[in-house]
Amino acid sequence: MTRPIQATISLEALRHNLARARAAAGRARVWAVVKANAYGHGIERVFPALRAADGFALLDIAEAEALRALGWGGPIMLLEGCFGPDDLDTCERLNLWHVVHDPAQIHWLASRRKARTHRVFLKLNSGMNRLGFTPGQYRAAWQRLREIPAVGAVSHMTHFATADGDAGIDAAREAFLSTIDGLPGERSLCNSAALLRFGHAAGDAGAARRDVVDTLGDWVRPGIALYGGSPTALAPDAAHWKLQPAMSLVTRIIGVQSIAAGEAVGYGASFRAGRAMRIGVAALGYADGYPRHAPSGTPIVVDGVRTRICGRVSMDMVTVDLDPVRAAGRAAEVGSPVLCWGRHRDAELGIDEVAEASGTLGYELMCALARRVPVQVL
Ligand SMILES: *Cc1c(COP(=O)(O)O)cnc(C)c1O
Repeated sequence: MTRPIQATISLEALRHNLARARAAAGRARVWAVVKANAYGHGIERVFPALRAADGFALLDIAEAEALRALGWGGPIMLLEGCFGPDDLDTCERLNLWHVVHDPAQIHWLASRRKARTHRVFLKLNSGMNRLGFTPGQYRAAWQRLREIPAVGAVSHMTHFATADGDAGIDAAREAFLSTIDGLPGERSLCNSAALLRFGHAAGDAGAARRDVVDTLGDWVRPGIALYGGSPTALAPDAAHWKLQPAMSLVTRIIGVQSIAAGEAVGYGASFRAGRAMRIGVAALGYADGYPRHAPSGTPIVVDGVRTRICGRVSMDMVTVDLDPVRAAGRAAEVGSPVLCWGRHRDAELGIDEVAEASGTLGYELMCALARRVPVQVL
């Protein structure tokens, strides 16, 4: 028998989440963000569900090639644009739209010969201070791009630093709208958090309030929401946003120990039993992508019953408390199924709960799913 760990990807959940994003987007078109191999899910695997999007946004040219090889003829956008002048050849060959965020990229475009071959999104730095032109530089950069023969349509975009938090998007949104005021071109502002928090509420799709329309622009760029992770972690959580987990990670118990009060479990003896207890060993470790920093107490589901991990996560094993499982009348023995996150039969455990306990985000856990874990598409 092969090691009993398995990830599953639900196309139905992906379709549902994309429909949620569309409802929130109103009349704006939807880029499905599939960077980092579709947040760890696999571009080839998610494609049958996400091809219902209007375009794909990513940053790795090999991933753009993969989408074209899958038969995608629609828009693809490079979120970080070109990394060097040679990438412009690839953009022409694969018909990629690309972000321009730095003067070097404008310089590369200026030395191209073919007319109107590049469709670009000029990026405004609206306060995140990562990529993009400042409000003071933006209009001159726009003017310069418009004068380059190789450049066709120029669209406008920005990315919010605090769409998920209390600070919200107001200041950055105002910076964007006032900077591009009067300039022609499509607009793109929202990631998942901005889309779900400030887009159309469900059932409100026809309302078309001016401020909502301005925020949504012409294109929205949801990533995490498509995969069923909450862009706002646990407050509010994925259920609040009506998202379904696309990825589930399931394994089995491979060993059981009965320990006495006072005995320790795992490397470093970091967990010590306060009473006699039964410990299950699950085939799951940090080499599978489970976070090594998950502390004792991190939730996990054994045989449909919610329990906790005990002791340090090792490379290939995690130790769990079987007592709540036994107390619920389940066997909790070798072979019992263990849900690490996602859904299995009637049980559900949010990836954001595991992430929160481990001091990280659902984003990181999805992206970290290891190659050695077999993946089944449902
Ligand atoms: C990753 C990314 C997104 C998607 O962000 P989510 O929080 O996953 O929705 C949108 N826009 C840009 C520029 C990004 O890099």
